[in-house]
Amino acid sequence: MSLILRRLTARFQTGNLIVRTCSTDKDAPEFDMENPFEKEKLQCVLCKHKIEADYKNVKLLSQFQSPYTGRIYGKHITGLCTKQQELVEKEIVKAQSAGLMGTYVKDPHFFEDPELFNADKPIRPHRF
Ligand SMILES: [Zn+2]
Repeated sequence: MSLILRRLTARFQTGNLIVRTCSTDKDAPEFDMENPFEKEKLQCVLCKHKIEADYKNVKLLSQFQSPYTGRIYGKHITGLCTKQQELVEKEIVKAQSAGLMGTYVKDPHFFEDPELFNADKPIRPHRF
């Protein structure tokens, strides 16, 4: 009896939507499963790896600084979300005022580091 009731209210979970089906089909699946076709959530590099920008982490912050002018790259180039971009900019300014980072030039120690993004090819289009 309980088996029949379970089959009557077999649930299929599709993302956030839970679909209830009423069927007496004994071959109907009776388990909850995630939607295999759900798209991967788009996240920026820092959110994806759960990295928090800190003014003492100069090696990370220097990735967001131009090696030629020392300028902080914009959001359209770095691909960061608004929250992380604002945090990175704030921490870079903090590191520069603490004397840990240069304002007009990137530290030559970090020239060989792998790049998080291609500065010559912006991730998102912009109006300039
Ligand atoms: Zn993010």
